[in-house]
Amino acid sequence: MTNRTRREEIAAGLAEVEERIEEACRAAGRTREEVTLVAVTKTYPASDVRLLAELGVRDVGENRDQEASAKARECADLGLAWHFIGQLQTNKVRSVVRYADVVHSVDRLRLVSALGGEAVRAGREVTCLVQVALDDDPARGGARPGDVPALADAVAATEGLRLGGVMAVAPLGEEPGRAFAGLREIARAVREAHPGADVVSAGMSGDLSEAVANGATHLRVGTALLGRRKPFVR
Ligand SMILES: *Cc1c(COP(=O)(O)O)cnc(C)c1O
Repeated sequence: MTNRTRREEIAAGLAEVEERIEEACRAAGRTREEVTLVAVTKTYPASDVRLLAELGVRDVGENRDQEASAKARECADLGLAWHFIGQLQTNKVRSVVRYADVVHSVDRLRLVSALGGEAVRAGREVTCLVQVALDDDPARGGARPGDVPALADAVAATEGLRLGGVMAVAPLGEEPGRAFAGLREIARAVREAHPGADVVSAGMSGDLSEAVANGATHLRVGTALLGRRKPFVR
């Protein structure tokens, strides 16, 4: 396997992930078109983003502003949709709204007003997902389920922002299907109040089938496409 080019490696990963998504859709009685694959390219170089784009991927996800902004600049010619999926500090918002089409990690009101203000200044419209904490670990980000309706209302009412829907990461040590079933109910309530907000961002390399079974519209997949990331020390 050592002679495989990076392109072949990524093509193989993508084919495998596509097969898993198709199988999950079949099992759930859904069509492949209902699900968007967001390729999570964090820690991997812009050259990998380029290869993914050549292989047909249109959506990429990043979780750190410094890395993401540089990569988005290098790949500006590709016309990709950039998803910001990491915890977001307000002092990074001005930079993030310049390249991000979708921010998946909106979990507090201060972030809503900051994103709106900077989006207007930049002359852009940013789609926002309310990140829901499905466990009680605040370190992992996300709003408590009880705070989600107010956050969704705030996003919908803020100039420069569009409410896309909700996002979550399955808690460690819990059955992901159960967690995603809970998210599905929260998503339903948000959609009832805001009919256009139909995005459910859930599912990663290890739990994408459970996410598809529970109505996910966006899967955020890194490892299964690009390989295991080197441990990252913050
Ligand atoms: C890194 C990351 C992913 C991708 O996880 P994999 O297990 O590598 O597929 C998805 N969502 C978020 C929020 C992430 O930070």
